Amino acid sequence: MHGWRIGRIFGINIEIHFTWLIIFGLILSAVIQQISGEAPQASRANLWITAVITTLLFFVCLILHELSHSLMANRLGADVSRITLFVFGGVAQMKREPDSPASEFKVAIVGPLTSAALAGIFYVLHIALKSLGVSRVWWTAAGWVATINLALAIFNMLPGFPLDGGRVLRSILWNAWNNLERATRVASTVGRWFGYGMIFLGFLAVIGGQFGGLWLVALGWLLSSVAAGSYQRMQLQQALGDVYVHDLMSSPVATIPADAGLDRAAHYYFMAARFTAFGVEEGGEIVGVIRMEHLQQVPRERWAFTRVGDVMMPLDRDKMTIDSDEEAVEALMQMAQNDCGRLLVTDHSGNIIGIISHSDIVRLVKVRGGLGL
Ligand SMILES: [Zn+2]
Repeated sequence: MHGWRIGRIFGINIEIHFTWLIIFGLILSAVIQQISGEAPQASRANLWITAVITTLLFFVCLILHELSHSLMANRLGADVSRITLFVFGGVAQMKREPDSPASEFKVAIVGPLTSAALAGIFYVLHIALKSLGVSRVWWTAAGWVATINLALAIFNMLPGFPLDGGRVLRSILWNAWNNLERATRVASTVGRWFGYGMIFLGFLAVIGGQFGGLWLVALGWLLSSVAAGSYQRMQLQQALGDVYVHDLMSSPVATIPADAGLDRAAHYYFMAARFTAFGVEEGGEIVGVIRMEHLQQVPRERWAFTRVGDVMMPLDRDKMTIDSDEEAVEALMQMAQNDCGRLLVTDHSGNIIGIISHSDIVRLVKVRGGLGL
């Protein structure tokens, strides 16, 4: 998952995924409500400035939480080069799973500890500002940042994988059983059940007239689906080991000119090469992808009058391309997210150099599994 890069600290890129803006808006409105409730005499300008600063502080605290994971991971030999903030908080993008229970434990626990420490610092600030007699808006805001950090520490310590607490649980089970697969399965099952529990409690709250319960429902639903997804991901990661996109791609991409008619495409390209998809080329560049299904959607008698360029899927770089140095698992995830079976492969300068298909990856998983390799 990539986002907009907003900065770089200790060699780690900080990025924001667009879904995070939703959270930013929600938090901003929650802060405004909170502060105006506590300090109704505050001026509008004062209120807004404080709310924006408080929300930004919260955002900095989130980055510090993720940064602590990344720095610990890098100290233990991992290779984390970017952090992406998205709707669920943050993720430090680790290239591979930790190599021992001890390093997993350290990397996981440091995040909630950082949030707890930040909660302490802002609580002290809250008390200090209050006793100094500054505007009520300010010490209310400091108190709010302390509370949210404490909530972050507690929520992240729930023992459901892939939350930090779930990773701590996994490292303990992994250490006890010496079996990463089994430890992950149990920790993510616990994560799913915690998710269901939160959904249930959330519904109870809503039935009781507390609409804040909807938050709990949403978080629980996210947690249970992420827990299931991360277990599948780990299984795939084990099966795919150190396989990268460039190992499995076909290169160069077979192309059809955009102005070719569909009948010509069908006979001289699809039938002749027996491929089910082609890149579409115009002016020496790939401008889209055409699949068999695109032809099937056009009645046969219209083929002679329809150009490939009219029915192709136009190139959308965010969704349809992947860097050749990404892991094959990442390609599968991207395909699943965008519901497509193929991705165009790019080099470091963004040039399209190949194509990778779902079946290429799945075939490798099958062969490896079959041979027990
Ligand atoms: Zn964390």
